[in-house]
Amino acid sequence: AAKQAGRNCWRFYEPILLQKTYEKLLLTNGLRRGLERGEFSLYYQPQFTVTGDEVIGFEALLRWVSPEHGLVPPDRFIPLAEQSGLILPIGQWVLQEACRFARRLADLGQENLCVAVNISPRQLLSEDFVTNVRDGIIMAGIKPNQLEIEITESVFIESMEDAVVKLRQLQAIGVTLSLDDFGTGYSSLTYLRNLPVGILKIDKSFIDKIITDEMQLQVVGSIIDLGHNLGLTIVAEGVENREQLSILTEAGCDRIQGYLFSKPLVEEAAVRLLS
Ligand code: C2E
Ligand code: MG
Ligand code: MG
Ligand code: MG
Repeated sequence: AAKQAGRNCWRFYEPILLQKTYEKLLLTNGLRRGLERGEFSLYYQPQFTVTGDEVIGFEALLRWVSPEHGLVPPDRFIPLAEQSGLILPIGQWVLQEACRFARRLADLGQENLCVAVNISPRQLLSEDFVTNVRDGIIMAGIKPNQLEIEITESVFIESMEDAVVKLRQLQAIGVTLSLDDFGTGYSSLTYLRNLPVGILKIDKSFIDKIITDEMQLQVVGSIIDLGHNLGLTIVAEGVENREQLSILTEAGCDRIQGYLFSKPLVEEAAVRLLS
């Protein structure tokens, strides 16, 4: 009967949904204040060569510890930040903080290390994003190629043309561009040819299955080969064990990011790792 009544009619009164809406509202308000109160921080997860003995760079991962909600995972608050528009000021903070870290690395003589920042579609498509990136680089005094911008395929669904224009502008500045969570979206390796992206990050969901699922292994192998043919560097995300590592090494994967080598680290630990 509920189904016949149509989705919109009864769903709205579902108590659980109402509670969830309220929860979202509370979290969103918390996010707004969180920025003012300095409740955000960046963790840095190192990326390694397949041998595991050389750090190539870091991915900056946002953490929010709220006095009301405790540690809230990004998968939970990033969507709310995007919906509310708060992703713009929050993302701007992330960008500046990551550039500052990159500068610290350069000051330590590690200016060859790249710091990757996750950028949500709304951020990339915002009017002043490219200017903000340029300003961030200049203010921190880093080389543009010390900064890496990670985008996901979802941005192309929202606005292919605008996204490509933005990426070309970023490429002109000299930042490194990577396509994150590859394989989870509507990705097609054919359109990759037309994008100024230099790095492909294969999503953890694929890496999880390469040991048990021959089919997934084939898929990952194909992504690596085709990616290489397009001149891309391939990063495997979420590598947790030796078995996955040896399969990925065999398949020709270029870089490894995952708990096997290191979890995301607080800044001091990330710096210590290098010494
Ligand atoms: P992502 O960009 O794909 O980041 C990789 C996620 O996988 C991170 O989760 C990382 O901690 C986790 N991870 C890495 N290696 C392993 C592993 O071996 N095992 C397991 N189980 N997990 C691993 P995290 O930090 O919770 O971030 C989740 C997502 O939130 C990110 O996925 C990214 O999409 C988003 N995010 C994080 N920080 C930011 C940010 O500053 N801005 C935006 N827009 N999104 C962000
Ligand atoms: Mg990422
Ligand atoms: Mg990813
Ligand atoms: Mg992800």
